[in-house]
Amino acid sequence: MRFSGALAVLFIVIAAAFPQVNRVSQAAIGAGLALVQGYETAPSSYGPSPDYGLPAAVRAAVEPSSLLTEVLPLPSPTVRAVTPTPNPPSDRPAIGAAQSAQAQKGAVTKHIGLQAGHWKYAEAPAPFNTMTGTSGGGKTEPEVTLAIAEEVARLLRASGHTVDILPTVIPRGYKADLFVAIHADGSNNLGARGFFTDHPDASPVAAAEARLSAAIDFAYGKATGIPYVNRSTPGSHYYYGYREVSSTVPRVLIETGFLTNATDREIIVSQPKRAAQGIADGIAAYLSH
Ligand SMILES: [Zn+2]
Repeated sequence: MRFSGALAVLFIVIAAAFPQVNRVSQAAIGAGLALVQGYETAPSSYGPSPDYGLPAAVRAAVEPSSLLTEVLPLPSPTVRAVTPTPNPPSDRPAIGAAQSAQAQKGAVTKHIGLQAGHWKYAEAPAPFNTMTGTSGGGKTEPEVTLAIAEEVARLLRASGHTVDILPTVIPRGYKADLFVAIHADGSNNLGARGFFTDHPDASPVAAAEARLSAAIDFAYGKATGIPYVNRSTPGSHYYYGYREVSSTVPRVLIETGFLTNATDREIIVSQPKRAAQGIADGIAAYLSH
């Protein structure tokens, strides 16, 4: 009796425990679902992405991937980040010196999207075809942002990374390991100067974006000597480019300095390599952690 009594007590304990276990697991499942749903619905907080009247061929080329991005509960971006599968040493193709140095260090090469702000704006659909950007010192913003973007690309490619330079029109659902939009500021107040970075308001990769932003802030200030002045505006905080790029990609915008300020212009126009070095160093610092 004592033995079966003990068994009964044991069963009651187990039975009593089960609902709790169920509740715990239901809570865990619920939390997991909420996370997944939150992950999926977060991008919609940016609002619907306008059509921009992109040619049908361009939309067709990018829509399958953007559809996938919105429907599938994607794993975390660090897991999803595309890592080239290394070939066995025997059949590894010949690679350049920079890639070889990377391989020896065990570093992983990444796919980086740089946007030269306002570049090819005239070819973009309305309203972007009127967004010329600012100008100063005889240079237009797209001339300046393209010069900087090309130099950032050269530096990153020398480290083995794959780099795209994107114009005003970004293929919808664009995917890379990170995205940086490069811009320059302008003001009627010719004394206004400084640089800053910005990133989306709500994002499934907010932590990565904050880290990339901070890494560029630090490296860019160091390389250029231009002061950091946070002048975040709706244009930088709700930047249309954030919506065009897949929400799984860390997205940052940098205003590199004021084209209307002689001191900033001396760096970003006359010494674009310094500005580019700052951005490339920031990206490298972000990737190294
Ligand atoms: Zn701009």
